[in-house]
Amino acid sequence: MAEENQGNTESKPQTKQNNNNRKPNPNRKPNTNKSAGEKGSGNKPNPNKSKNRNRYRRQPTPVDENLKSFVQKNQDGHKKRLNPHYKLDLNSNAKIRITPLGGLGEIGGNITVFETEKEAILVDVGMSFPDEDMHGVDILVPDFSYIREIRKKIVAVIITHAHEDHIGAMPYLYKEMQFPIYATPLPLAMIGNKFDEHHIKEARRHFNPVEKRKIYQIGEDFEIEWMHMTHSIIDSSSLAITTKAGTVIHTGDFKIDHTPVDGYTADLHRLAYYGDKGVLCLLSDSTNSYNPLPTPSELNVGPALDRVFAKAEGRILLSTFSSNIHRVYQAIQYGIKYGRKICVIGRSMERNIEIAMQYDYIKFPKNIFIEADEVSQMNDKDVLIVTTGSQGEPSSALFRMSIGEHRHIKIKPTDLIVLSSRAIPGNEGSISGMLNHLQKAGAKVASDKDIHVSGHASIEEQKLMLRLTNPKFFLPVHGEYNHVMRHKDTGIMCGVPERNILLMTDGEQIEIAPKFMRKVKTVKTGKTYIDNQNNHQIEDDIVLDRQKLASDGIVMIVAQVDSQTSKMLAKPRVTTFGIVADKQDKYFAKEMEDVLEHFLLHMKEHLISNTRALENDLRQIVRKHIYRKMKKYPLIVPNVFVQ
Ligand SMILES: [Zn+2]
Repeated sequence: MAEENQGNTESKPQTKQNNNNRKPNPNRKPNTNKSAGEKGSGNKPNPNKSKNRNRYRRQPTPVDENLKSFVQKNQDGHKKRLNPHYKLDLNSNAKIRITPLGGLGEIGGNITVFETEKEAILVDVGMSFPDEDMHGVDILVPDFSYIREIRKKIVAVIITHAHEDHIGAMPYLYKEMQFPIYATPLPLAMIGNKFDEHHIKEARRHFNPVEKRKIYQIGEDFEIEWMHMTHSIIDSSSLAITTKAGTVIHTGDFKIDHTPVDGYTADLHRLAYYGDKGVLCLLSDSTNSYNPLPTPSELNVGPALDRVFAKAEGRILLSTFSSNIHRVYQAIQYGIKYGRKICVIGRSMERNIEIAMQYDYIKFPKNIFIEADEVSQMNDKDVLIVTTGSQGEPSSALFRMSIGEHRHIKIKPTDLIVLSSRAIPGNEGSISGMLNHLQKAGAKVASDKDIHVSGHASIEEQKLMLRLTNPKFFLPVHGEYNHVMRHKDTGIMCGVPERNILLMTDGEQIEIAPKFMRKVKTVKTGKTYIDNQNNHQIEDDIVLDRQKLASDGIVMIVAQVDSQTSKMLAKPRVTTFGIVADKQDKYFAKEMEDVLEHFLLHMKEHLISNTRALENDLRQIVRKHIYRKMKKYPLIVPNVFVQ
């Protein structure tokens, strides 16, 4: 109230001349006129309304025009700083095309093509896992049709990090066509292992290891920088991909971990550098776009593991994703703290720890490790087993232990099983099944929430990424449709206009120039089915047949027909699987015989000399009949011998 200046009609707005006059305005009178309305009138209705209104019709506080001009300057500054539009070369006609061939509308199988007029690069070449109805299929590899089509344009494969959903399809691509590979050392070491396993060791000659914070000229059109990123695997990167059209930032998979286990925080400075310079487009990880709480640091898992380990009375068996080197590192650290020797079991776990140690990402004294066959000679309290199987995979070490089929490790009632992981959607059933086995064997299972943290950014970290890079266009990636949709909302909240955000699906080609972004076409995408036993492809029609067999069964009909009379020479032989019960076989066979007889009776005459057409027609008739009666579409295999 002291600032009130009611009734002071002499105070004029300040002019330019007295701009620098910081002295108190002599015309200002201190307010001594406390009106009745102020004295504790509270919320009571004021009987003296008109007088009160008068009180507010006062002279405004004088405005310092100089201060005001600085407000304007700062507002202009904000506009320049925050509106990426002004940082791009709007006269440029250059364009870049971006085509996801996997990783959108699905979890996994990440592969994205970046294309200029003359050249192209692939970013990541990942695999994914099949649905339960893809019988006998172990992994899925993206359809390479579009890559074949533009093969001549491709100057390099660029890798962000070493997760299977980003490198798992590399050997399948490289068996067919090979390009230079640019990546940091860990992804290359892991890809190298895959090449060896697939007997294409010589493909290692395409390796080009990169240093972070350096800009690599790749082909003639691309300049690429790898920026260090935190994620659930070490040595991850975001990419700054610069072409004549501008810079595209591809986050890769990320979370913003301010206290990573190795102390190597995300390179926010480089992201900010590009954001300040001007970013044409951001492609950002949408996996956790529903999560409002910040993703905890990997370091948070340590104390939780400590707490769980402290209570263990017998052996500890810890299972996690074998690629999460820092998790494994922390687990081993706490194992050592409690005087335990470490036994690593499971092929991928052994291999990943070996690589991480070979390349000095982690260090342990050699004498802490023991072999699986030494475990039985040790005191239970002195053993930590680190193993695979956190997803309940039937071939994993932990699963085999749970059903008593592991050669060296039998589960005991004093064992503590620590599952330091979450269920990947779709794996809940197999994990639950494994837990049942483990608990039946008497083991205790710890799966406290805080013994696992996610490797992906939550909403707040997604906001930070959007603000740091400050893109003109935004393509939320890495997730199913509902994830990218939610990420779009976050993008809008962070100042990207809705019209500058596109939700892509696999195969959609987006063209981006400093002035516009649009969908241009759709290219062929899909999945190739792989049988892991022999690393060979399974053709689509085989999988379709298996699905049909599994859901609807099969009917086989063998008949002999007289070419003269068009009549059956003997009763047809009918065999079925998965369609009628054994005890109804005879009845069903009779039914088929009637159908066949009726068919032959009414059959067009020329068919008798064309067995193939005859069988086709018969198949249609049988299909209709079975569908009418059973509402099923079994595989129908007619064999008609005309004699
Ligand atoms: Zn990842």
